[in-house]
Amino acid sequence: MQGSTLDTRAENSPRPTSSAVALEASHDPALRSWVESARDHAEFPIQNLPFGVFSPDGGQARGGVAIGDEILDLAALAGSGLCADIEETVTAAAAPTLNGFIGLGTAARKQLRARLSALLAEGSPAQAQLKPILHPARNCLLGLPARIGDYTDFYAGIQHALNIGSLLRPDNPLLPNYKHIPIGYNGRASSVRPSGEPFLRPNGQRKRPDEAEPSFGPCRNLDYELELGIWIGPGNAQGSPVPIDEADDRIAGFCLLNDWSARDIQAWEYQPLGPFLSKGFATTISPWIVTPEALAPFRKAQAPRPEGDPAALPYLNPAEADVPHALDVTLEVFIETASMRAGGLAPHRLSLGSTRDLYWTPAQFVAHHSSNGCNLEAGDLFGSGTISGRDPGSFGSLMEITRGGREAITLPNGESRTYLVDGDAIVMRASARREGFASIGFGACRAEVLPARG
Ligand code: CA
Repeated sequence: MQGSTLDTRAENSPRPTSSAVALEASHDPALRSWVESARDHAEFPIQNLPFGVFSPDGGQARGGVAIGDEILDLAALAGSGLCADIEETVTAAAAPTLNGFIGLGTAARKQLRARLSALLAEGSPAQAQLKPILHPARNCLLGLPARIGDYTDFYAGIQHALNIGSLLRPDNPLLPNYKHIPIGYNGRASSVRPSGEPFLRPNGQRKRPDEAEPSFGPCRNLDYELELGIWIGPGNAQGSPVPIDEADDRIAGFCLLNDWSARDIQAWEYQPLGPFLSKGFATTISPWIVTPEALAPFRKAQAPRPEGDPAALPYLNPAEADVPHALDVTLEVFIETASMRAGGLAPHRLSLGSTRDLYWTPAQFVAHHSSNGCNLEAGDLFGSGTISGRDPGSFGSLMEITRGGREAITLPNGESRTYLVDGDAIVMRASARREGFASIGFGACRAEVLPARG
């Protein structure tokens, strides 16, 4: 689908693979909400409607939808009678974990989105009934939207792979498998935390090249990694891989993901099996599940591979190459030091990147991950791998920006950094923009580094 034509016929299309790209009435940029703060909201206008789990004023956790500066309480909506015909779906979306809801898949999610869009639109007869079940987001605590069964981190940011590879192997930065396999490893799900939760600098075993013996203590080279997070919806039975052309329908939505990385611990531990304790102490995600429907206007076809690159093997090659499987989302990373916070200074932007710099698509992650028969489950989380562009202003980690900690950066208030110090907070933001459409965002992905436990 090209241009900004709103094609409502696509909703009735029998072709399941079109679901991720079909443009509908809910994308109409002229659509306005009766929720005043949602009008022209930078992140959560009525065209977004991301799902999450929130607790209002210390109350019980329940499902909600972000609309402007408010959160619509889905538990209250479920009891309102306004969604009686889709009761199973709205009840699942109102639960304190959304695994059941996202496991229902694309059709149910689209149905609820369309209903929410109608209920929250200007002129909705339900306005008076819904107004009392909106909660100001500033008074709510946002939790993890789902119980994460498994977390997998990929390595699809090719510029990041080139930048890191060139620090280690200047003559041969990309390993021979990179353009054939979406490289990944099984990460740690238990330590994934929602935005806002601080974490302790990890202790670990580290050994600099100039040290004769390893020692145990606080990480000396603490870094962040800017990544796109991908929520898995309906899973697959063990032994039944997801075909590439069905893979987009297994994705329930997207978030920002900060893969905190202890570079010194990583350098010592990672050979030959890869990252372990250097990654498993904390991962921070933005708490809203931004749906494939909300992102449909911001889909793009994957850029053709540069001449000379190998073709992907058939199980990773979609039948229709021009179907927009990739995303065009702008990503930003900011640092806020303790001294900046104390002085009331705005966070300083460290980088500006784009999901266009991913060599593999989310659909290829799903097809590859399940290709050996591995069963994916609703609530599994993928990280894309660090997203970096070609120029230093778009590098998605300090290891790249400071060239392995060799070149310190100076912040506007005169402080300098190679890696993170205690009290530093990293804030990530995402925005999707396209001429003729309402811009949407993901909400913040923020966490502060606390001193290591002594
Ligand atoms: Ca990573």
